[in-house]
Formats: sequence, C-alpha cells, structure tokens
Amino acid sequence: MIADNLQKVKDSLSAGVELVAVSKYHPVESVKEAYAAGQRVFGESREQELRVKHETLPKDIQWHFIGHLQTNKVKYIAPYIAMIEAVDSLKLLQEINRQAEKCNRVIDVLLELHLAQESTKSGMLPEECFQMLEQGEWRSLKHVRIRGIMMMASNTDDIEQIRKEFLRARDCFDRMKQQFFADDDDFNVRSYGMSGDYLLAQQCGSNHVRVGSMIFS
Ligand SMILES: *Cc1c(COP(=O)(O)O)cnc(C)c1O
Repeated sequence: MIADNLQKVKDSLSAGVELVAVSKYHPVESVKEAYAAGQRVFGESREQELRVKHETLPKDIQWHFIGHLQTNKVKYIAPYIAMIEAVDSLKLLQEINRQAEKCNRVIDVLLELHLAQESTKSGMLPEECFQMLEQGEWRSLKHVRIRGIMMMASNTDDIEQIRKEFLRARDCFDRMKQQFFADDDDFNVRSYGMSGDYLLAQQCGSNHVRVGSMIFS
C-alpha cells in the first residue's frame, strides 16, 4: 500500500523535484515500509515524535523538521537533523547556529514565508524576511546554511488563490537569490506543495514537495 502510494507520487514528480515523505502522526511501521521502498527523506513536525523515530529507525534517514520549532527544542535535534524547513525568525536562526556549532555541524535551513490568507499560518512576511536578510547578521552565522524558502498555501479549494501564493513564493525566491545569494549555488530550494496541491506547486516552480497523507493514509 505505502509502497504503491509512494511510487505513484514519485511517478508524478518532474525531474529534479525532491520528495519529502511527511510521516508525522504515522507509526514507525509505516516509515519502515516507505524506507523499504527506497524513501530516505522524511518530514516530521514534533520534536518528541521525531526523537522516537530517529532513535528507532535506520540512521541513513534524512530527517527534515517541517513544523514550527521552538528555540528551546533546537538542542535536541541539532545533532542529527538534515534540514530545518521552517525558520521564521532571526532568533531561531541564531539558536540553530549556536547548537550546530556545539555539534560541530553546519545545518541546512529554509526560511519560511507567510503568504497565505490565514493569520494562523506561521512564517515571516516577505518584507520581514527581506529586512532580516538586509540587516545582514545571518552572514556571520557559519553553522547554518540558508538553502532556500518554504511556505504553505492557504487551506482553500480556490486553485487560483493557491496558484497566486505559489507564484509569489517563486517571485520571493528569485528576488532573494538575486539580491543576497547570487553567488551561492546552495541557495536552490523552493519547498512548497503538499498532498492536495503538489502538482500545481511543481507547475509554479517548486522543486521540493512535502507529501504526507497521499503516501501514508
Ligand atoms: C503535514 C504537513 C505536510 C503534509 O501534508 P499532507 O497534506 O499530509 O500531504 C506538509 N508540510 C507541512 C508543513 C505539514 O505540516
């Protein structure tokens, strides 16, 4: 079942699009099935759940933290996390840098943009994010590597609304690339698209989709 679902999703991805299998709320057994089918990149959004899975499952899994991360939790995941996708403040970026330095690591991160209509969705407004980049302190943080952006579209059936938000994400990425990361080949990740909208996300320039329910349920 999970293997079939996974294959279906993979078959629908364009070349060069990375798939994060979002395993949050799904049991270790399910992750094992996806792992046996060849998947190595998984997304989780709660530190405690991730801790259990990380301890139980094979060590070549690349775990992406995709949820809101509290600064006091960073120390628990810093030793092993492959990517922290939802960095929504300079304060969090600083703490990741601090903990990564303690582990002698450089941690890949994405900047989370708030482009959805709902006020409940987290992330930085584009202007906040550009302000942070202009302010420049991030350049001194040698233990984090900003790899790109992530966002979640509005929870709506209005496809044109979702498309608009994805295209804004694409535009923000392009402007950031040009202004701050033109010489940085590692700044190349556009993380948007989930089970309901990843095909549209791909059409709108996503190269990193986070798909959960379509694989695991
Ligand atoms: C849960 C979650 C996903 C996956 O959502 P599905 O609809 O299950 O594919 C993707 N991104 C984030 C940030 C999530 O919390």
